[in-house]
Amino acid sequence: MSSKTSILLIYTGGTIGMMQDAATGHLKPFNFESLTEQIPELKKFNIKLSSVSFEHPIDSSNMHPRIWVKLAEMIEKNYAKYDGFVILHGSDTMAFTASALSFMLENLAKPVILTGSQLPIGIIRTDGKENLITAIEIASAKYKNGKSLVPEVAVYFEYELHRGNRTLKYNSKHFDAFKSPNYPRLAEAGVDIKYNFNEIQKPGKGKLIVHKKLDNDIAVLKLFPGISKKITESILNTKGIKAVLLETFGAGNACTDEWFTELLAKTIKRGVIILNITQCLEGRVIQGMYETSSHLKKIGVISGADMTYEAAITKLMFLLGQNFSSQKIKSLLQKNLRGELSE
Ligand code: ASP
Repeated sequence: MSSKTSILLIYTGGTIGMMQDAATGHLKPFNFESLTEQIPELKKFNIKLSSVSFEHPIDSSNMHPRIWVKLAEMIEKNYAKYDGFVILHGSDTMAFTASALSFMLENLAKPVILTGSQLPIGIIRTDGKENLITAIEIASAKYKNGKSLVPEVAVYFEYELHRGNRTLKYNSKHFDAFKSPNYPRLAEAGVDIKYNFNEIQKPGKGKLIVHKKLDNDIAVLKLFPGISKKITESILNTKGIKAVLLETFGAGNACTDEWFTELLAKTIKRGVIILNITQCLEGRVIQGMYETSSHLKKIGVISGADMTYEAAITKLMFLLGQNFSSQKIKSLLQKNLRGELSE
């Protein structure tokens, strides 16, 4: 085996590689070769850098679980050959992809770093160059014994490295677009890259297992004061749903109207899993802390603790995709599988 560190760059699309369409003025993805031409610095790395591109790069708003499977398969196919992976991805749904991949790639022992940009790489003030160059540097960073420094799925954006399944896009116009409000940064890039070693996941011990079955029969019920029975009923009674993500107030609270509790209880009796996460970006669900959440606990709503919306959705897709009993799914939802929640 060559001693040179090898990194596979996977280009999926996103602003980083977009150009303005002369006719419409819209930003559209363009081909990957043009992207590498824009960053001659890439040739200066003392690593073996290979790249593969989606045949049709996408704006990440068109991301789909079937594309996550494709990405996971690309990593699986190249896992033995490379020391790390950098995924160039649109920022809009990057946190979903990072969360999904974290669940799909069990026993991961190599870095999978997602990055992108707010301005296309061809624009002088682009944030894409720094993001890409540092993401590659992080993906290639190793201990003296050859083990990766960041053996997990992470998002690198504007000098910060975050755990993928703790990340959310919180700003659509600043370069500093991502946060992981409930988990410390994994690293910060300045003159040096400062790693937060205590917070980085340990590498997986067994062989990499790639989970490719995801089930998206999930509904989301985001509460607001005055939500009607009619709307709540129609969401909960959606044909074929297996889980409902309930977005509640504060520490996991909801109204205590009898109709509301009864509707939820009936849905759970039908075998649908209801997972409670908070609408607050920071903090956690503590069912039973207030009277306005103890009714949820009583009827069997599952607490999503401090999971992000992105992590909760993709964890549900992942667990529903396995052939697990409802009991097992409920129990795993409350367990920390990939660093996505604090138990
Ligand atoms: N709409 C773009 C995307 O997510 C935005 C970006 O890349 O930042 O693909």
